[in-house]
Formats: sequence, C-alpha cells, structure tokens
Amino acid sequence: MTVGIVVVSHSRPLARAAVGLAQEMLHGKAVRISIAAGLDDTTLGTDASAILEAITSADSGDGVLVLMDLGSAVLSAELALELLDDDVRARTVLCPAPLVEGLVVAAVAAAGDAALDEVAAEAAGALAGKAAHLEPATPPAPADDTAEPDELTGSFVVNNPHGLHARPAARFVAEVRRRDARVRIRNPRVDSPWVDGGSLSRIATLAVRCGDEVELRVSGGQAHETLQHLLSLAARNFDEDHTEAPPAAPATAHTPIGAGPGMGVGPAYSARSQTPDVPDAPAADPAAEWRRLGTAIADTRRTIGALRAATSRDIGEAEASIFDAHQLLLDDDALLGAARARIEQGENAAAAWSQAVAALAAEFDALPDPYLQARAEDVRAVGDQVLRAMLGTEGDAAAASGVLVAGDLTPAEAAELDPQRVVAVLLAFGSPHAHNVILLRAKGIPVIVGAGPGVLGIPDGTVVAVDATRGEFIVDPPADVREQFRHEAETLTRRRQAALQRAGEPAVTRGGRTVAVGANIAGVEDARAAAALGADHAGLIRTEFLFLGRRQAPDVDEQLAVYRKIAESLGDRRMTLRTLDVGGDKPLEFLPAAAELNPYLGVRGIRLSLAHPDVFSDQLLAMAKLAQDIPLSVMFPMVTTLDELFAARRLLDDAVRRAGPRPPTGLQVGMMVEVPAAALKSAAFSRHVDFLSIGTNDLSQYALAADRNNDAVAGLGDTFDPGLLHLIAATCRGAAGAASVSVCGEFAADARAVPLLIGLGVDALSVTPPAIPTTKEAVRAVDDRHATETAEAALAAAGPAAVRDLLG
Ligand code: PEP
Ligand code: MG
Repeated sequence: MTVGIVVVSHSRPLARAAVGLAQEMLHGKAVRISIAAGLDDTTLGTDASAILEAITSADSGDGVLVLMDLGSAVLSAELALELLDDDVRARTVLCPAPLVEGLVVAAVAAAGDAALDEVAAEAAGALAGKAAHLEPATPPAPADDTAEPDELTGSFVVNNPHGLHARPAARFVAEVRRRDARVRIRNPRVDSPWVDGGSLSRIATLAVRCGDEVELRVSGGQAHETLQHLLSLAARNFDEDHTEAPPAAPATAHTPIGAGPGMGVGPAYSARSQTPDVPDAPAADPAAEWRRLGTAIADTRRTIGALRAATSRDIGEAEASIFDAHQLLLDDDALLGAARARIEQGENAAAAWSQAVAALAAEFDALPDPYLQARAEDVRAVGDQVLRAMLGTEGDAAAASGVLVAGDLTPAEAAELDPQRVVAVLLAFGSPHAHNVILLRAKGIPVIVGAGPGVLGIPDGTVVAVDATRGEFIVDPPADVREQFRHEAETLTRRRQAALQRAGEPAVTRGGRTVAVGANIAGVEDARAAAALGADHAGLIRTEFLFLGRRQAPDVDEQLAVYRKIAESLGDRRMTLRTLDVGGDKPLEFLPAAAELNPYLGVRGIRLSLAHPDVFSDQLLAMAKLAQDIPLSVMFPMVTTLDELFAARRLLDDAVRRAGPRPPTGLQVGMMVEVPAAALKSAAFSRHVDFLSIGTNDLSQYALAADRNNDAVAGLGDTFDPGLLHLIAATCRGAAGAASVSVCGEFAADARAVPLLIGLGVDALSVTPPAIPTTKEAVRAVDDRHATETAEAALAAAGPAAVRDLLG
C-alpha cells in the first residue's frame, strides 16, 4: 500500500525544494510525489488541469493526498477534484495542512505504508509540534480591519506614471503570493478599506495613482522578508521603465516575420471583435457547471501562456508582463469566487462567468483614473476568451475582408478565410511553421507573424499596407505609399497569372537543367488541384488523412480505393505515397501509446509503423497492389538508421509478394531525410533507395533544436540557417550518382530558396499545389553558375539574415 502525494504550489521551484526536503526524510524509501506548481519554471500560478494530471500520476489505487499552498491553489485543486473520475475522486483528499510541514510528515507516513486517512491525519496535525513550542506567542486571529499583534506595517509612494496599474500590481501580487505571509494594503487618499494584497482585482479597486502613498500590513511566517521585498520592489518602481511610452499602434513595422509571401493593402478588420451570445437558461448541476468553467479557464491559461512567450520573444519582457496580469485575473479569488457563488445559485457557467466579469469590469469603469478605467478592457478581453473557450465559439474571422488583424488564428479559422476577400493577414503572434500559417500560404494569402500586440489596437477600417515577402507593414500609409503598394501587389498578381499560364510546361533553368516540380497533397481534392496547377508529379502524399480521428485503421481495400482515386486525379503523373507519419503529438485512436515527454523525439513516423507491423503491412499491401497498375513511389518517413530502412523494405518486399503474381510496373522506393543523422549518412542510405526527399519542416526543427509548433522558438527554427543548408548540401553530396534528391518541406515553396536549393544540388522540388506555378517560374529564373556560387557563399554565411542578404 502506498498513498501518493500531490504538491500544489504557485511556484515550481518552491514545490521542488519542498519535495527535496521531504525526500531527505525518507532515507531512500520511494513515495509517489507529483508536483503541479507554477505555470512554468518561472511563472507563478496554479492550473487545475496540471493538478488533475498530477493526481492521476500519483494515484496507484491506494489514495492520493493533495497539499496546497496559498489562496487560489485551493480553488484550482477543488476544481481538479471535480474533474476527476468518480473512483479516483473518492480516494483523493484535499488536505488543509501547511504545505511544507504537511508534506514532510505525510511523506514519512506514506513511506511507512500508512493508509490514506492516517496520512491525512498526520499531515493535518503537522503544526502541533511547532504550535506547542510557540504556544505562548500565538496570537488570536484578528478581525480584517484590525491590526494583528505581530504584524509589520509599512508604506511606499507609487512613482509609476500610471499608478499601481495592471503590470506593477501584477508584480506586487506575484511577490505576495510566493511567500508565506498575509499582506493587506490600503490607499488613504481615497480612504479605501484594507484589501487582500494577493488579489489583483482588489488592488486595482484602490485607484492608486502616481504620487499616492499606500499602506501595508504584513503578518505570517515570512512577514519580515515579504515586507522588505515589497518595499524594495516599490522603490524600483515595480521594474517598470518610466521612459516607456504607452503602447500604441505602430506607425511602421518593427521586427515581424514575413511568413507567406506577397503584398496586400486594404482596411484593417479585427477578428474576434464581437462578444459571444451567452445562454441564460438555469443549470441543474452546479458541480458540472463549475467543471465547465474550470476547463475553459485552463484552456485560456494555456493560450495566454503561449501569447506571453511569443511577446517576450518578439517584443520584450516588459510588454510580455501584461499577460501576467491576464493570467492573474484567471487565478483571481474575487472573480472566481463571484462566478462560483452564481453557479451555486443555479446559473449556468457561461452566464455566471460573464456576470462576474461584467461586475469586475464595471468596478474598473467606475474608477476616476482614466488609465485604470481602461483596465476594464483587460478584464473583458480575458473574460471573453474564457467564454469563447467554454462555448466553443470561434471569432468572426470567417467573415473577414481586407487586412485581417488578429492575435493568432486557429487552423480552422485560417482554413475558413476567403483569399478573394482577405488581401493579407497580420498576426500579433504566431509561428511561420505553424499549421495555420501553412494553410494561409497554401491559400496564397500574404501573412506576417509576430507583428506585436500593438497591431491589435489598429482601429477597424484603418488602411494597412502589408509586404509579407519582406515582413513589413505600414499602418495608415500616406497616399503615395498606398499607391505604390497597390501597384506592386497588382504586378505580383499579374506575374502570378503569367506563371499560371505556363504552369503546365516543364521548369528548366537558364542553363538548361530541368527541375521537376511536384505537389504535396493530402487527399483527392489536393490531387485535383495539383493536376490543374501544373504539377509534374506528386512528390509527397501525406497518407495520415486516412488514419487520423478513426476508431479503426482503414483496411487494405479502403486504402487502395482512396489511393486509386488520387491516382486518377493525377492522370499519368508519378505519385509518391508516404507511409504513415503519425505518433507522439498526433496519436492514433486505435493504437493507444504511452504518453511521451518529448513526442517529437519519440515513437513517430517509421518507428511507429515498425512497432505495429500489422497496420504497416496492410498499408504496404494496399500500395503494392496499386503499384501493379501504375508507376508508384513509396517513401518512408523519419528514417534514422539503416536497420529501420532494411526492416521497412523487407515488409514492402513481403507486401509485393502477397499482392500476387503481377509484378509492379516501375515501383521506386525512397525515404524522407528529416533527421540530421540521416542527412549526414545519405551516402550509406542512397545505395539502398531510388530517391531521398528532404523534409525541411522536421529537419530544421531537429537541426536547430526548435520545436516547429512552439511560437517561443519560431525565430530560431529559420530554414535559411546555414546549419540547415549544410545538412542539405551533405545529403546531395552523399547521394550524388546513386539516388536523386528532392525537397518536399515548406522551404521548397519559398521562391528565394529555389536558386539556393538548386545550387546546393537538389534535383526536384515538391510544394503545396498553389505554389507550383510560382515555384516553376523561380526555377526558370535560375542562372546555374550563379546559383552554385550563391550556395557556396550561403554555406559560409554567419546566419540566416546573411543568407537572405545574399539572395537579395
Ligand atoms: C517535413 O518534415 O518537411 C515534411 C514534409 O513532413 P511533414 O511536414 O508532414 O512532417
Ligand atoms: Mg516531416
């Protein structure tokens, strides 16, 4: 019997240190202790979904004791408890013990195989020793407005130009919450009551302006150091830079990333400007409503966390800290308490939340200070985000026209945009490798990511000129600049039309070298588009679309039927079917897999297929049958070692035998080069395949250690990085004379990359169908000798910016 323990704290370092201390007492005896603490290593906060996971992982069936630190840690833990399955909830106890003392004695009791109620009782009594020792000095609990006998008092003058507004208040609250101290604060100028220094919303109602002297009362175990820290934080003006101007829409661009080439000029249209409709029907089950709210808050917390990381990367830490205020609002006792009270009175979660948000926003609206009044918008924005997460309503991006301005878009929203109406997209955040941006590129919509939160303040209707090729935009440009953008955009459109007219012809460089330009497709529709847009072949058919979201794997006949339809749409063009590339972050419902800490470094691609030979063999059999009728290329994804390639080939040979006596007509076998080791071993691989296809989307994330879906490292995962170019060059060198080399990652669709890739020795390209005509044009413009020289210079360049400069 071992009871598990969960430590819930606002601070991850604090929780780890507490666990370290407890483990010291266990003398090597194992106890399951899980941590749900902080929003990341440095951001304070608690998250119900993380607590839920921690409870699940600590639970071995003998019960779980949850210990929490301050304030909303308790609310989050309660929420997690309600989200648990009934049986796990029945054996989980939220323990009121003080975190450190409780953890130490609970861990010791659990290590001694005590039952859950004994462990809980031990923890709850953890203060007994200290209390007995200090008994004479323990004061009676005071009333809220009365001084505590052992409390410390202090005061500070606020010098921040906007007073104790969201950012400094968030710093203050964070400082309070990380310590074992009770802090109360008041503003004598407005004769305010004493309010809880750990509540952002309470502090904001004090209307503290620049020049106000506020008073503090601090008590508790860490009263002294807490007061010292708060006073020194105030003396540093809460680490705010005074010279900084209030955020405003930028007149010109700063450092955004052009993620989808092209130009557009038009009126700004902000997505998500309408508040969703809130149902007002009463709800029968308050616990279920509280759970709904908790789930929506957890989703929103994750979204805001990503936005914060993006802002910190692109703009700076000071601007990013505005999101701390948003996060703290999600964690605010007063706001959550008001919503919960309404839910318990029978309101549905959405109505209760929107009423609580409206009441808090109204408090801000009523404040005399205009800057604090404006904070009501923060409350409404965060409230709106939670409401949308709860109601599952998207913003109004689908109706967009002109230049769409948004924080980020979901792939679904990106997919809905109409390229006839949306001339460009300007995203405050986002990553050029994220799926939404890939979708926008595929639609031919120019897009800039990382334009900064300032763009969210651009009023609807203001003309914005976007040059997504250069990653530049101008808000409200003068008439002549507007005209120039329009002119260039029209020129681009004309060029695109000319490219379309020649799309069916082969792409031949000026030196007479033919470079096949294929299509990347994921379904029958794409195959039709590829044929219409002049694809020479299909260089990458992502077969995942047949498998994802299914309860059962498609059988051989179903797969064969779909592959045949694609083949029909492609006419007599050669098609390259890539075997299943899922796993890790894209799990298959019918193949449950263990959770992985690093899914991109885990069981995905060929590794997953080899681990499930039944599923893999069915797919290979469908391909082998098709190969009897058409010239087919089969390609294996994510290959790292020769052994993997040999194992996959053996299964393919086996499938060819099982397919029947008719031999395949021109079957070719190839592999993706997505792992740096495979690029460097290309000579060894090339002896056993007909072709290599470089997947720059993955190769860049592995080469540069930059997760392709993580906004925070989007700038690092730059495909123009000379490090990546060396891997491409090594692949071509190793394969020379033995196997052909293609590039099928998104890089191939960037017109600037085309001469570079050809100069590095790439034989063929495969791109998203709308990019085929312009990619062919880019090939036609290549001067072979110059391309080779440029590629050599690029390999010697210091970084991606220098490579771009070389390309002009
Ligand atoms: C790649 O990694 O570049 C690639 C083409 O594969 P996918 O984007 O499907 O992972
Ligand atoms: Mg890949």
